[in-house]
Amino acid sequence: MDLKELGEFGLIARIKSRFRDSLAKGVEGIGDDCAVIPLNDVSSYVVTTDLLVEGRHFLMDRISPFELGYKSLAVNISDVAAMGAAPRFSFLSLALPSEVCGEWCEQFLEGYHALSSQFSVALLGGDTTAAENGHMVISVTAIGQVENQNIKRRSGARRGDIIAVTKQLGDSSLALRMILDGDDISKDLRAKHNTPLPHINEGIWLGARKEVHAMMDISDGVASDMEHICELSGCGARIFIDKIPQSDVLEKICAEHGWSALDFSLSGGEDYGLLLTVDSEAFECLQREFFGKLYAIGVITDGDSVVYMDSAGVPMAQKKGFRHF
Ligand code: ADP
Ligand code: MG
Repeated sequence: MDLKELGEFGLIARIKSRFRDSLAKGVEGIGDDCAVIPLNDVSSYVVTTDLLVEGRHFLMDRISPFELGYKSLAVNISDVAAMGAAPRFSFLSLALPSEVCGEWCEQFLEGYHALSSQFSVALLGGDTTAAENGHMVISVTAIGQVENQNIKRRSGARRGDIIAVTKQLGDSSLALRMILDGDDISKDLRAKHNTPLPHINEGIWLGARKEVHAMMDISDGVASDMEHICELSGCGARIFIDKIPQSDVLEKICAEHGWSALDFSLSGGEDYGLLLTVDSEAFECLQREFFGKLYAIGVITDGDSVVYMDSAGVPMAQKKGFRHF
């Protein structure tokens, strides 16, 4: 099996089909932001796990140990919130290169603990080992709890739904680009990438609303993440690119550098806001009542493709760079 040809999602599909037979009633496995394990008639646990590999997901000299500790938990509980669940517990496993010192670990734990306390997530265990090849590997598992009737899935989108996001998009990947280039970067912008605030209370609130049909978190860029919702919901989408919410900072810096702001906001990734679809008739009311911001960016359609409309309402050719892989 050629892994490159199969790709990340091809491999996951193979794993899923191999283990399809072993699921007990009510258990939901591979495919969504979290697996679902029924707890009782009323509620369920949701479980997710993520790996952060040095050199692939972070560079030691571009992120502080505090930031890395915070981010390791943030990317996991973001998936929990995407199901409409409250994060409750986490497990932390570390493969550490020999040169890592006690002070580094202290600060890493401080960052992990800061976010754990903010959302009352208890660390219950993990594993620790040496990284023989010199690259640190961090694996976090997060567990959340949710009422069964509030669980939101990627598969829930319905034709006519409004597509919305809870955050301005693109700042995180812009920050990454500037951090990698060694550019001067403000504290605020750096934080968008190194310590992204996951939309936990937003996810719990939106999970409790019936008119929210589908939800996931935005980790790979909204272009790629939207495709997952369409695939699992059996629908298409129309995205209005002038409705993609972008910060003034993103627009200003992109204009200065001659970069395309849309490349960051549509396909940049690591925003860790929420992407959701909402009953069109209930959208305005939901938007008014929501304590955060809801930006409408498109509509769910028949068909199976994601179409981007320019400011004149004309479909655009699929732009290079929209796709992650
Ligand atoms: P997310 O970005 O929300 O963390 P991923 O794209 O990483 O989601 O994963 C998509 C789905 O595939 C999830 O349900 C995840 O649990 C599952 N998955 C990913 N890798 C594996 C694996 N090696 N074995 C089993 N399931 C996997
Ligand atoms: Mg996710």
